[in-house]
Amino acid sequence: MYRTHTCGELRIEHINQSVTLSGWVQKVRNLGGMTFIDLRDRYGITQLVFNEETHKELCEQTAELGREYVIQIKGQVAERSNKNNRIPTGDIEILAEELTILNSSELPPFTIEDETDGGDELRMKYRYLDLRRNPVRENLVLRHKIGFEVRNYLNNQDFIETETPVLIKSTPEGARDFIVPSRMNEGQFYALPQSPQVFKQLLMVSGFDRYFQIVKCFRDEDLRADRQPEFTQIDCEMSFVEQEDILNTFEGMTKHLFKTIKNVDIDYTFPRLSYADAIKYYGSDKPDTRFEMKFVDLTDDVKGSEFKLFNEAEYVGGICADGCATYTRKQLDKLTDFVKKPQIGAGGLIYIKFNADGTVKSSIDKFFSAEQLKEIGAKFNAKDGDLVLILAGALNKTLTALCELRLEMGEQMGLRDKNKFSPLWVVDFPLLEWDEDSNRFHAMHHPFTSPKAEDMDKLDSAPGDVRANAYDLVINGVEIGGGSVRIFNDELQQKMFKLLGFTEEEAESQFGFLMNAFKYGAPPHGGVAFGFDRLVSLFAGLDSIRDVIAFPKNNSGRDVMIDSPSTVAQEQLNDLSIALNLKEQ
Ligand code: ASP
Repeated sequence: MYRTHTCGELRIEHINQSVTLSGWVQKVRNLGGMTFIDLRDRYGITQLVFNEETHKELCEQTAELGREYVIQIKGQVAERSNKNNRIPTGDIEILAEELTILNSSELPPFTIEDETDGGDELRMKYRYLDLRRNPVRENLVLRHKIGFEVRNYLNNQDFIETETPVLIKSTPEGARDFIVPSRMNEGQFYALPQSPQVFKQLLMVSGFDRYFQIVKCFRDEDLRADRQPEFTQIDCEMSFVEQEDILNTFEGMTKHLFKTIKNVDIDYTFPRLSYADAIKYYGSDKPDTRFEMKFVDLTDDVKGSEFKLFNEAEYVGGICADGCATYTRKQLDKLTDFVKKPQIGAGGLIYIKFNADGTVKSSIDKFFSAEQLKEIGAKFNAKDGDLVLILAGALNKTLTALCELRLEMGEQMGLRDKNKFSPLWVVDFPLLEWDEDSNRFHAMHHPFTSPKAEDMDKLDSAPGDVRANAYDLVINGVEIGGGSVRIFNDELQQKMFKLLGFTEEEAESQFGFLMNAFKYGAPPHGGVAFGFDRLVSLFAGLDSIRDVIAFPKNNSGRDVMIDSPSTVAQEQLNDLSIALNLKEQ
């Protein structure tokens, strides 16, 4: 038997017991006459003591040990004279009687400590060592627990977990596909699923009624902190439901997770915000509602002054930062530089300080009297001591820039507390969005999303104005999930494909199977998919999803540990009848 207990288990009540432990050597301290070893496993750290006086040979044996050696120890549990209240086993130690080296270890390339000296790239190359570190492992334990509670909740709601294939054909989530050549079908390719969308809808046609799957999805997109080429969704679909039924079910799941994982009670119904209002008040369809600071539209109020910028701008709007009138010139210059960054792209920043003493100071003093500035302030309900920040320019660009400014101010004012959670549903998304490059409409969610019944008559006359039964769950400015009520009638589905610019043949060749299925009694249905990695990283208080994935890829989509992607043997290419035509040699 390798062990009787784990390294996190022994307490004061185990004193005098003979035990066997196995684990990794975290640290060896030789204090002359006494050698102490911290022995570590997944469950914790236990201190071992080697006494030179009573166990001379054994003590000498410890000289061989280095960091990360794997050892087995037999000994007696004893009360420590010097207790360590920072670890749960800190009241006891093991008086070592027998030591077996189970395996040696090379010196690890970085320290296996909570705070390590290893840089990102090095830790990724040796990810299996990085995973020995507590904070990294804890993220994965959290991931496991959340997955477990998801299954628990959905199982109790009669959902059936069903696997769907990975070698399929293109699915319409709007990203580029990863493709896999088929050896047995020369010149043909599978695509990896961007999501199991069509399969889950087919399962509804099959009468499964409630489906879910915690499933890998693949999208060949440029990577960011919250994107990986392969990521995991909690993918769900339900039959005989309306939008409200779906929102309630998954609001329930979200609350269940907050309760069971974080012990946070959310006793209110998640607010519902229309897409139009999300853009109007926050400049984003995933607003961070941990704090207010809503946009105030001034476009019509500031026309007709001497100030050309305001007169000519398509949109003038701003935010009010409570208590920030004390911002110095330097701080305001920094904010101006922030909004002028190319990624944000505002032309400049206008401020109005409503000083605590009742005076007003603004960068547009020349064009507006103190009275006029106070009138503008009133639109924001600005009090003495507040700072109003205004941007002007083209509508969409300015809204987006103002969104960034709002988030930055929220950050500076300490309003984006990672321990505060503010969930909401964003609803009533537009069905379609116009794409300037291809000069046609794209589905805002995906082509299977149902238009709202009350907007159906605009489908021909004003397709851009049609709203969809589509919704996103947003928490703290992160899109955690999204879904829609689906089209379940083949005629409407065909019409949708036509609006999206598919010819009948294209629609038939790509989605003929689905439209065919719809001819055999498809039930009304709808669903949602949650970004599992994002959900875990939100619960863990992290900014990147990489930290909650055991073996993630870097920003170039590489796994630097296994060194993938990599070239393949010419023979493999021959088997697939593939010749490379490389852009760079
Ligand atoms: N398939 C969708 C997605 O991946 C989710 C859904 O509509 O259920 O975003």
